[in-house]
Amino acid sequence: MWNYYPELLATPVPRYTSYPTAADFGPLEEGLIERAIAEADGDVSLYLHIPFCEKICYYCGCNTGASGKRARVETYLAALHQELATVASLLPQAARVRRIAFGGGSPNAIEPREFMALVEALHAHFPLVAPEWSIELDPRSLTAEWGHLVCEAGITRASMGVQTFAAHCQKAIGREQPTSMICRSIDWLRSGGVTSLNFDLMYGLPHQTAVDLADSLEHTRMLGADRVAVFGYAHVPHMVPRQTMIPEEALPGAEARFAMAAQAHAFLTGNGYEAIGFDHFALPHDAMARATREGTLRRNFQGFTDDPSEVLIGIGATAISGFPGLLAQNEKHNGRYRALSAEGRLSASHGIVRSAEDRLRGGVIEALLCRGEAQLSPCLLADVRERLAPFTARGLARLDGNTLTIAPGGLPYARGIAALFDSYRAVTQRRFSSAI
Ligand code: SF4
Repeated sequence: MWNYYPELLATPVPRYTSYPTAADFGPLEEGLIERAIAEADGDVSLYLHIPFCEKICYYCGCNTGASGKRARVETYLAALHQELATVASLLPQAARVRRIAFGGGSPNAIEPREFMALVEALHAHFPLVAPEWSIELDPRSLTAEWGHLVCEAGITRASMGVQTFAAHCQKAIGREQPTSMICRSIDWLRSGGVTSLNFDLMYGLPHQTAVDLADSLEHTRMLGADRVAVFGYAHVPHMVPRQTMIPEEALPGAEARFAMAAQAHAFLTGNGYEAIGFDHFALPHDAMARATREGTLRRNFQGFTDDPSEVLIGIGATAISGFPGLLAQNEKHNGRYRALSAEGRLSASHGIVRSAEDRLRGGVIEALLCRGEAQLSPCLLADVRERLAPFTARGLARLDGNTLTIAPGGLPYARGIAALFDSYRAVTQRRFSSAI
């Protein structure tokens, strides 16, 4: 059902977890993040970043370090507690925290008691109003104790980094986790009360074949993941030095990657999953599928989301906060982050004030990626009409008056079509991954 047009996939494009993207951030005026938090008077979502993992995977482009260096973990968590207190002191009375997400790294790389101390601090400092709790987990460091913690904390949504069930691919990416490990993790999480379980899967891995991918998809279906995110491995060793551990010659080529993306889409949609945006899938009962059907799916720093909140406050080094008029990223350097936090200061000194035009273009990009359709203003239409032609001429997108619709066969090109509305792209193109 998908046709391969390499020329339309040749330009690297962002994933648009925000618009403008983090690549377009610059220095921010002092006091902006404090003011934005102080004005956040509706529903608020919190994201806590835990940048540690027990073992570092060769492919990983995240800001994460080994959790074995205990002193580093402890000082970081102390800074995180301080930042929680600082943020809470700024939030107005009318704010209601409705969502709390732990991500990383791997939040389960810290000690269970350290995790519960964070949960208790959240309860102590913030106006929590029946929040939805979610967590990213590494099955390699998951234990039965974590299953109990999930239950105690009231976490109902969890995402596991599965990537592939093929042992030879796992070995090549430095992430060995037997199927029995995944199965016992599922049992612990389900009995701990997780009702929405996501598997992250990858294609384009070293030595990976269509048969390997089919096997991983079949395991995913049989194990009952409620959500599946299917990502293409982005090999950029010039930016992520640890990827030099991955043998470049063992990577599938561009056309094989495209075929794998199509294979995953066909398998999952043919086996009861609904397609969510360009790379997620969910069973019909899941909140993400409901949001898609109701047209309320959104994009935020965690990817596709059913979170309707306009305010997401990121806590921890590198975490990004999003407000209607501001995007702000915390200090990336752990030492500087800890020092600022210890002084009771917020470290977000980089970001961007979103102009009216940014918000207009961002709305179109989000609508295209989440709903496959956007209404264009006359100015935007005039701006993109010519560059849209290669997509419309191939039937990948359609223009009816001022309505732009991505055709079902245009899904693999959705990011490329969205990028036509990105006025920052010409300057920062080379930092992104290929769309497939
Ligand atoms: S577990 Fe996840 S965050 Fe940690 S190194 Fe592996 S891919 Fe990166």
